[in-house]
Amino acid sequence: MTLILFWDDPYATSLPASVVAATTHEVTLDQTIFYAFAGGQERDHGTIGGHEVLDARWEGPDIVYQLAAGHGLDCGEVVEVAIDGTRRDRLRRLHMATEIVLEVLTQDDPDLEKVGAHIGAAKARIDFASTVTLGERLARISAAANGVVAADLPISTGYSDMARQRRYWEIPGFARVPCVGTLPRRTGEIQGVTLRRKNPGKGTERVEITLAEVV
Ligand SMILES: [Zn+2]
Repeated sequence: MTLILFWDDPYATSLPASVVAATTHEVTLDQTIFYAFAGGQERDHGTIGGHEVLDARWEGPDIVYQLAAGHGLDCGEVVEVAIDGTRRDRLRRLHMATEIVLEVLTQDDPDLEKVGAHIGAAKARIDFASTVTLGERLARISAAANGVVAADLPISTGYSDMARQRRYWEIPGFARVPCVGTLPRRTGEIQGVTLRRKNPGKGTERVEITLAEVV
């Protein structure tokens, strides 16, 4: 079982780890800070033992990392896991921004049905099943979400079910929500969000979220 360290310390960008399984193009480690796609959040970018990670996937409680064939890493070998810290910083802030926007929207309209979400390093999106445009409420939602950011509230995270790796985040007085992302410790780290409404069609409304550029 891979010891997952990116939840308790989502700020770490390097870690020594031991290879516990290896094939020609894959490795599994005893512990890791390298995120694999989950909960709509894209994976980290980086290296293991100096080899670029080409993909990362969950296999039960383990994460299997794909490297170029012929990486030559063996079981028992100690390797350095290194991730792109700038990318992680953006993923951390955008994931929490998405959570806040979703929560504000849901508190505003409990009937709104989320049908999908995706968090990348440049932008994130949430899709809703809706035939009514979200356009006119966006300014209000944006102001409320940026209010939560500006209030610099503490964010706690933890396990709701450790065996099944179910996680949550909580902002006291605001919400407690299931989430497996790598999140910041305070809402102020997000700095600011910009929302745009898109209409992908077929009864779907999309809200696109980007980090506000802070000068
Ligand atoms: Zn989440």
